[in-house]
Order: sequence, then C-alpha cells, then structure tokens
Amino acid sequence: MNPHYRPSFATEELEFHGNENNPEGKALYFPVHRRRILIDTLSRPESYFEYLPEENSINGTEVIYIGTIKEIPCYCFELEEEFCEPDMQYFDLHELYGMVDEEMLGIASRAVQMADFYRTHRYCGLCGGNTEYVPVETGMQCQNCSHIAYPRISPAVIVLIEKDEHLLMARSKNFPEGVYGLVAGFVEAGETIEHAAHREIREEVGVSVKDLTYFASQPWPFPSSLMIGFTANFAEGDISIDPEEIEDAAWFHVEDIPKLPQKKSISRALIDHFLDEHAAKE
Ligand SMILES: [Zn+2]
Repeated sequence: MNPHYRPSFATEELEFHGNENNPEGKALYFPVHRRRILIDTLSRPESYFEYLPEENSINGTEVIYIGTIKEIPCYCFELEEEFCEPDMQYFDLHELYGMVDEEMLGIASRAVQMADFYRTHRYCGLCGGNTEYVPVETGMQCQNCSHIAYPRISPAVIVLIEKDEHLLMARSKNFPEGVYGLVAGFVEAGETIEHAAHREIREEVGVSVKDLTYFASQPWPFPSSLMIGFTANFAEGDISIDPEEIEDAAWFHVEDIPKLPQKKSISRALIDHFLDEHAAKE
C-alpha cells in the first residue's frame, strides 16, 4: 500500500459491523434514487446526511444499515419514486466529490452501491421469488428458495508502464478529448490479478512488461469496481493497439505528458507518483 495515497470514494473509518445504538439517537441517512443521493442543500456539508425523509416516502423500501462512523450509525435506502422536497436536490457521486470530505464521500459511495444492489436484486435470479435484505449476510435472500445474492464488486487492474523517462499512456474512445490514461481492464473468472494485468497490457497495447509491483487499490463506484493499481517496467514489443478498446496509445516523455485523468482516480495517482519520482531525481 502506498502510504502517501488516500483514495477517493473509499472509507477508512467506517465500522461495517459496528454498534447501531447511538446514546443521543443520532444517525446519518443516505436516501438514494438510481445512484443519486438526496441532500438538503440549505444545510452545511456536515449536516447533509442528517435528514430522514418522511415515513411515507420510505414505505415499500428497506432501510439498510451500512456501518457506524464515530459512534453514529449510517443507513441507506433506495427511494422508489424521485421524491424531493423544497431546497433538496439529488447529487451523483462525481458531483459530491469536493462537496464533502473524503471520508463522507467514501461512506456515500458505499451507500450508493448498497442501495443500488437492493434496487437491482428485488427478485431471485433462480426462481423469481421476492427477496429480502438479510443484514447478517449483507445479502438479498429469496423468501421462496433461500438463494442469496451478494453485492457485486468487479475487480479491475490498472498499470503504469514505464520505460526510461517515458510512460505508456492510452486513450479509450469514451475519454474526454485529449485525455490519456493508463492501461486497465477487468479481471476475468479464473484469473489472478497479475495474470489479468499482463493479459490486458498484451491485448490492449501489444507490449509485455516485467517487475509488476502493487501500488494501491481504490473502490470505484461507477458502478461497482475495485481498481487494483500496479507499476511495471517495459520488457519488449512495439505498441499495437486493440482498436475495439483503444483509440490511441503512445510513449510520453516525463516532460511532455498529455492531458491527465481527474484527480479523484487511481490512474491520476499513479501518474502523479511517477512524475513526483522523476522530479525528485532531477
Ligand atoms: Zn428463489
């Protein structure tokens, strides 16, 4: 783990299975509708999540305990309707970045993913029966056949590839104009994360690497990934892109780096780490 990196969208202090009893009855609520959180925009950021909507707007949904922060229990729930009150507004997680502190963003990110898990698992995948949230399992259980579905987290690898003072960067078709990032891809069934890293690099940019070294990880709730970051040194091969996935890839000198991904991503943290290391050498 890189000691200098504090990933966004991650909680560090939330006790996932903590105490739900606050002596003063305090709690934090994350009302979610289709991955966006309802916030009282007139309150200060530290009070954004103190509002509990009226009971009739919660009817028909389950209130899910997601953990305890500094002795305050936190709950999320998926609102069936796009319920709103004056001075309240929905925000997605990208919009919340910078509006609340990193710890609260991490908890909000967990809230969105758990509410979304609830929304997308109301019926059993085996028999179609109704499901119910089971706190001890952190899962949705079928009331008919007992099958349990768990929140899906999709691991993905992302690798910074270095050669002398150059960085191999690539852009996919859906990147904002001019922005380059690092090679990344999902881990597939039966794979180790190391295998996935070597495979993705070979498939997407055609080169091979050595000295694959773990850097850090970041939960990436868009919708439910876990990014696992590595650094590696170039071994051999010429760049040859997979046009299905990649629009362009090239070696960029440390002093000629293109437009970078946003600060909140581990991709940017890896690139900043590389740039800092080279700046320190000069
Ligand atoms: Zn079932």
